[in-house]
Amino acid sequence: MAIFSISHSNDGRKQLSLKSPVDLSHIGTYDCANKDEISKIMTQAKVAQAKWKTSTLKDRVELMHKVADVVIDQQNQIMEVVMRETGKPQQEAMSMEVFSSVDSLIFYANRAEKWLSDKKIKMHGPMRFIKKTFITYKPRGVVVVITPWNGPFILSINPVIQALLCGNSAIIKPSEITPMSGALVEEIFALAGAPKHLVQTVIGDGETGAELIDQVPDKVSFTGSVSTGKKIASKCGEMLIPFSLELGGKDAMIVCSDADIKDAASGAVVGSCMNAGQYCCGTERIYVMEDIYDEFVAEVVSITKSLVQSNDGKGDIGPTFWDKQIEIIEDHVKDAIDKGAKVLVGGNRNPSFKGLYFEPTVLVEVSHEMKVMKDETFGPIISIMKVSSEEEALTLANQSHYGLNGNVWTKDLVKGKKIAKSIETGACSVNDMAMSYGVNEVPFGGVKESGLGVVNGKEGLLGYAHAMPIIVGKKSASAYPYTDKSLDQLRSALKIFWGNKLVRKIFG
Ligand code: NAD
Repeated sequence: MAIFSISHSNDGRKQLSLKSPVDLSHIGTYDCANKDEISKIMTQAKVAQAKWKTSTLKDRVELMHKVADVVIDQQNQIMEVVMRETGKPQQEAMSMEVFSSVDSLIFYANRAEKWLSDKKIKMHGPMRFIKKTFITYKPRGVVVVITPWNGPFILSINPVIQALLCGNSAIIKPSEITPMSGALVEEIFALAGAPKHLVQTVIGDGETGAELIDQVPDKVSFTGSVSTGKKIASKCGEMLIPFSLELGGKDAMIVCSDADIKDAASGAVVGSCMNAGQYCCGTERIYVMEDIYDEFVAEVVSITKSLVQSNDGKGDIGPTFWDKQIEIIEDHVKDAIDKGAKVLVGGNRNPSFKGLYFEPTVLVEVSHEMKVMKDETFGPIISIMKVSSEEEALTLANQSHYGLNGNVWTKDLVKGKKIAKSIETGACSVNDMAMSYGVNEVPFGGVKESGLGVVNGKEGLLGYAHAMPIIVGKKSASAYPYTDKSLDQLRSALKIFWGNKLVRKIFG
């Protein structure tokens, strides 16, 4: 019944066999790359990068626009591949995978020349009279992009776009659950006319990903679970390979007494159930003020009951993408019920379907003793807890080893911002579900165990480059021998520049 299995062919090659989460039918068998092939792919990536790094920013931007055209042109094919491997509804295949990819291509293409061109740096103090400084953004080399299965196309293409704009080549190692959705990125870049081997794919499992890192790439961009993230951090640390980690979450939602209850309830349902709950910034814990609790819960129950779960891609909620995840969801719900939680809607696998469908579920009377309020559930589970004050909500929200995203609901926007700032998390929304991954203007990254480093925004893009300062002057500013005179000159400079408040302001 497993969605993916690994076997070995007669010649000893590892093979990946995949089933559809929609109806458990066989959807493909793929060869995993072996060590020799991985090594060859790395060599090819290095050769491609050596040429690509000499391309102008204009050439790179032009490629991104061509890729955007191909994604728009191939939107149905992309949706079809992603839906075949994940079963996600067509609306989500379009919004999360296709629309967001084109949005990202255009966003970075339009800003790359400004953000990545050499920058003159205005110097301070006495050095400003004798030196000029600028920063040039150099590519790192070959970037390995390792991705999960929940957003298999967007999470593969988005780091690749940023890596290529900085002059790197990229090797994608997609999840073993969704290999073809990741491999599509290579195909799309090839269709857009990208140079050969600039974007390549390595198919395989975790062991394959580890072997790829053994080839010592120049950066690893990892998106996935905390446990794998720690292994990657340790491997990269040993070899001093720069890396970024975008990991799991257990996002909190705080609903204040003055919230628009209908809007908040709708946000709770979509935040918890989008992508069948398999969303790193999914709402996994909801804290609601006691005076509006009953009304809020009634509204959530009513919306949840109206959701359509279907296996034709047309409903609101599709399947869980793999069997291990649905087992985790079942375990969390059972653990909650055993410890006293009440199920108001759902609570089981949906018996109407052959595939991996878990019913959208509303749980109340939950507590922090339960797995559903502690560990990442990654399912369509809406867990609601009553609180007696905003302070209590905040304390509970911060009682987590995760810190990826969160959301606060109140009509008082000043208060909303204040609570948002106090949540220990990577980003937060006020009066909306977590949406920061889709806001390309801002860096995206978790705190605590939710990650290290950022993707997206100017900060994320620049992570794929080395910012190299070049300091230029006609004459050296320091020289031997050290004499009484040179020491006196330093003392005078100290007095002139930093001994006076007005001069400090002007030259500091
Ligand atoms: P995972 O960690 O099991 O696998 C992710 C990728 O890492 C896969 O491609 C896998 O083959 C590879 N891998 C596994 N072991 C490896 C190793 N030792 N060395 C190198 N590569 C290895 O995660 P998953 O189950 O695919 O994804 C779900 C997780 O991803 C959830 O926790 C979710 O919250 C998280 N996620 C985070 C973000 C974010 O941006 N923060 C986005 C999406 C998903």
